[in-house]
Amino acid sequence: MKLASRVSALTPSSTLAITAKAKAMKAQGIDVIGLGAGEPDFNTPREIIEAAYQSMLDGQTKYTPAGGMASLKEAVIEKFQKDQGLGFKANEIIITNGAKHALYTLFQVLLDQGDEVIIPSPYWVSYPEQVKLAEGVPVFVEGKEENQYKITPEQLEKAISPRTKAFVLNSPGNPTGMMYTREELEKLGEVCLKHDILIVSDEIYEKLVYGGSRHVSIATISPELKAQTVIINGVSKSHSMTGWRIGYAAGNGDIIKAMTNLASHSTSNPATPSQFAALAAYSGDERTVEEMRQAFEARLNAVFNQLIEIDGITCIKPQGAFYLFPNVKEAAKLTGFQTVDAFVEALLEEARVAVVPGSGFGAENNIRLSYATSLENLEEALKRIKQFVETRK
Ligand code: PLP
Repeated sequence: MKLASRVSALTPSSTLAITAKAKAMKAQGIDVIGLGAGEPDFNTPREIIEAAYQSMLDGQTKYTPAGGMASLKEAVIEKFQKDQGLGFKANEIIITNGAKHALYTLFQVLLDQGDEVIIPSPYWVSYPEQVKLAEGVPVFVEGKEENQYKITPEQLEKAISPRTKAFVLNSPGNPTGMMYTREELEKLGEVCLKHDILIVSDEIYEKLVYGGSRHVSIATISPELKAQTVIINGVSKSHSMTGWRIGYAAGNGDIIKAMTNLASHSTSNPATPSQFAALAAYSGDERTVEEMRQAFEARLNAVFNQLIEIDGITCIKPQGAFYLFPNVKEAAKLTGFQTVDAFVEALLEEARVAVVPGSGFGAENNIRLSYATSLENLEEALKRIKQFVETRK
């Protein structure tokens, strides 16, 4: 059967590919350390699990409105008000099956064939594929290493064409862990307002910020920028709830209405028990969220110096998320590899450490290491990487 060209053009996720290979090696009894994870390693807090369980016992096991339960929308609205001082109405919120589905649905309702979406690189792997699935065209703008992998307003403006519809902003960013400052966001925002470009602000790592830095949403800069932005967020990373699949989008009521219509014909609604779980997450105190954040920060601080001490590896210290994104081009050369992809393969086969090659994120000199794993694992992995480089160079 010939499949639709739309899916044959899809690139498989590089994150999942390396994880699958590492898992297969583990199944053969090989002692592999996986640093590919894109999810917190903590269990979902117990109160959240109990709230979902209780809701099911209470008979809350049926369909909800396609755009999500009114009570959860209300909790999301309160969260926006409390955390960012942003006011939204219920018709400006849609609850989705994870932030990924919010993004997918947004691009589907936004793009006509050939419409362009500006995506700064390094980027999260799903943005370009989702844009292509909506028949749009991803336009990459390189965030240079010397600018902490962030793009400048001049670069943004240069990439704009009459077909540009949206600009994706991901801060703190996956894979780099970098964050845009308020001043930087103001300038990028000015460009978007001038050219009437919708800002898609993916704030899924909002709660995971380190070193005393503060996350700023571009929508908080001015009422004009709030009107020009759709915020994407969810509970996956903040509350260690990746498997529950609850995210949301907040923005212009017409866009949200179109997204809700599309959801009503595709997913009906995000799983009802998961919505109750997310409601509990946002109704509870933030103690566990903060404890997880502190654990990530402690790991980052414990291993960062060990990483940059390895020959041929340089890294900018991340301010958020849970990834390190070192440049390993020199280390690859030193150890006799032409490409970082080949270095990554040998690292897995010889040193038994699984990391994700940067090529899938649009950065071929880098690798992504997730510190969503125990300190013990991280320290052992770094020891192995160091040994690998030392013995091969
Ligand atoms: N956005 C970014 C930048 C991510 O890294 C991820 C998950 O890896 C998501 C969105 C998707 O999150 P969710 O689990 O809510 O779909």
